[in-house]
Amino acid sequence: MQQMHSGGCQCGAVRFQAIADTAESISCNCSRCRRLGLLLTFTPSSAFRLEQGEDNLSEYKFNKHVISHLFCKTCGVQSFARGVGPDGSEMIAINARCLDGVDADTINPKKFNGAAV
Ligand SMILES: [Zn+2]
Repeated sequence: MQQMHSGGCQCGAVRFQAIADTAESISCNCSRCRRLGLLLTFTPSSAFRLEQGEDNLSEYKFNKHVISHLFCKTCGVQSFARGVGPDGSEMIAINARCLDGVDADTINPKKFNGAAV
């Protein structure tokens, strides 16, 4: 179910609001996601609003450099990433573990074999 969520990093410097459906989350086994334990919920960038912290984000890119992995300069937590969907539209990959009031243990993510991509 699409719902309005708020979330952000650990220290609070990075805060956002987004409409997203956490039931449609994925867990990925690529070299980054498996280390961070990312639980990703995708939403169009039009359904995502960064309320604060743009200046406090560091960017990391790897592999094909198509995803902008963003983490807080202060606390190091990656609460979202920016990317492009298969149709070329701008997408946000939210770390569902960073959403307020969402119990990640209630999410049953689809497994994505990012290690094989
Ligand atoms: Zn932070």
